[in-house]
Amino acid sequence: MNFKRYLVTAALPYANGPVHIGHLAGCYLPSDIYVRYLRSQKKEVKFVCGSDEHGVPITIRAMKEGVTPQQVVDKYHAIIKHSFEEMGISFDIYSRTSNEVHHKTASDFFTKLYNDGLFEEKETEQFYDEEKKTFLADRYIVGTCPVCGNENAYGDQCERCGSSLSPEQLINPRSTLSDAVPVKRKTKHWYFPLQNYEPFLKQWIIEEHKDWKNNVYGQCKSWLDNGLQPRAMTRDSSWGVKVPLADAEGKVLYVWFDAPIGYISATKELTDQWDDYWCKDDTKLVHFIGKDNIVFHCIIFPAMLHAHGNFVLPENVPANEFLNLEGEKISTSRNWAVWVDEYLKEFPEQQDVLRYVLTANAPETKDNDFTWKDFQDRNNSELVAIFGNFVNRTFVLMHKLCNGKVPKLHEDILDDADRKMLGEFELTKTKIENLLEQYKFRDALFEVIDLARKGNKYLQEKEPWKKASSREPGAENQNQKLIDNALHVCLQLTANLAILINPFLPFTAKKMIYMMKVVDKMLDWENAGKTKLLSVGYSLRAPELLFRKIENEEVEKQVEKLKGTDKPQAASSKLQENKSKSMEQSNDQSINQSSINKSEIQYDDFAKLDLRVGTILAAEKVEKADKLLKLEVDMGLEKRTIVSGIALHFKPEDIVGKQVVVVANLAPRKMRGIESNGMILMAEDKEGKLHFVSPGDKINEGSSVT
Ligand SMILES: [Zn+2]
Repeated sequence: MNFKRYLVTAALPYANGPVHIGHLAGCYLPSDIYVRYLRSQKKEVKFVCGSDEHGVPITIRAMKEGVTPQQVVDKYHAIIKHSFEEMGISFDIYSRTSNEVHHKTASDFFTKLYNDGLFEEKETEQFYDEEKKTFLADRYIVGTCPVCGNENAYGDQCERCGSSLSPEQLINPRSTLSDAVPVKRKTKHWYFPLQNYEPFLKQWIIEEHKDWKNNVYGQCKSWLDNGLQPRAMTRDSSWGVKVPLADAEGKVLYVWFDAPIGYISATKELTDQWDDYWCKDDTKLVHFIGKDNIVFHCIIFPAMLHAHGNFVLPENVPANEFLNLEGEKISTSRNWAVWVDEYLKEFPEQQDVLRYVLTANAPETKDNDFTWKDFQDRNNSELVAIFGNFVNRTFVLMHKLCNGKVPKLHEDILDDADRKMLGEFELTKTKIENLLEQYKFRDALFEVIDLARKGNKYLQEKEPWKKASSREPGAENQNQKLIDNALHVCLQLTANLAILINPFLPFTAKKMIYMMKVVDKMLDWENAGKTKLLSVGYSLRAPELLFRKIENEEVEKQVEKLKGTDKPQAASSKLQENKSKSMEQSNDQSINQSSINKSEIQYDDFAKLDLRVGTILAAEKVEKADKLLKLEVDMGLEKRTIVSGIALHFKPEDIVGKQVVVVANLAPRKMRGIESNGMILMAEDKEGKLHFVSPGDKINEGSSVT
């Protein structure tokens, strides 16, 4: 099918916090690369996004901060929008779902489905706060976790032990609004019978979209195989799009009903021709999302669009997997993240480095890991040493050996190496096109860098600087011709590199066209592959460095910052007072202690610790906790149960018989329902691997360590 126009959407970020690198890598960078590529091909394309501003977490945050939900979304909408602009994410519109246009669009959409009789009304019992006279979403109910004893577990999940819960399971449940004990009360909601759309979805996805990425297709198939259920499309809340029905006081649309409609609203805001993009079959609609949104974009929203009628369906939904950070899941609540607004301040003018690293390491087919070391390595050994180095050498040599002008190409002495290099332009262009059409952004970027690598090799073999110093009589003229050819080829290659890198690193492409004194139009995709982009005799500007080296201190500082904010040991000078609090915040207290700056303590502080030698008698994995091992430790006069966060480092059977050092007077603590009595000391090496701290020779259990 030949599409006349493209509508590209990126998942609406949730406006209750800033965006981090996981968001960028997940959908904003890939969509931006794709759109920049389409624009450079002069395709008709609209790129829409906006803040998702409804839903329970926003009302909770507002309550905690003592402000209105509108104030929360105003604050984060501004931060998010600014971060995207600064990173060069080139939306045609960045809207927001608290806009009037959106409220009207979502409300009309609901009304149409309602009038067509497509909802099922159901009365159910839900928790209600009698003091505040309001129904309570699960998140509004807190109580004691039946699994780990956390007194502040939410009605849907315990954030300490990770168990998913329902409000009925909480011990001593209470409303977060008033502390009142919630009671059950009847409430009516409108359900969308997803099961009625199974035949349509099966035909459309399973039969007609085998081209979707494996992770997306597989998830859809498993949802459909398991059978779909009716889903409530309304909620009891005062924050959101009001349900447009007479008997729906105090009810709003479910946030996942209204959010995807936000794509339509944003397009409406952007252009009067919005219905060309949403209603004509020759539109290619592509949703870029993260893997956690697959069901909403591939099952629920398409079923809604289909039920409504008149709308196109997405042609593709390229979802990425997750990006981890330094080996751990990104966690906004633990501040284990690299925030884009902070990166922009701490690495000014370095947007393309982050764009590069996140694309080169994109979680396209599996979860990937971002590390600051890799960030530094890729910058220094790929951007600086390959791409930047090639462009810089070419410009410096051209100024030195060709008077700052594009030299002539002497066809009579062209050799195989020259022809091969010139032929690579078109070959690389074609490879990149094929990869981008398949949403393989990493591989496409790799091809650009590989072309620069070939340029370096070519220049190295041609050695124009040596020819310039040749003093053989009569050779000068011939040598100058060889110099001309080598630099002519390298300059045309530079122009090609600018076009090919432009969708990925737009800031760099801009610097390059400035150096080449050409207009933006040269970056049009149709120019890629051409070998006569820069005219002979045209004088070019002096080179400026495209990339700078990233120093060890810069990345070390970032790692320190990360570990300092996340891990609970930061204030460990008062170890005795703080230890139980530290354990409350994290189960894996044995990991990553090494990089924390600890302040000086007095001997008395140290003397409070009762450190003793013990021998591990038995070890087993703790169910549903990847990191935890339950250990039986012989302490001489007694045997202790200790839960330790070392399961990723040791097999239970390998550590039985080990002698270890135990903090014996640590207050007991329940983890995953198991009482842990003490803590095992571990040393962490440079690679993050843990090692036991043991006495040099086997000694009596219970010996004290002083
Ligand atoms: Zn719990």
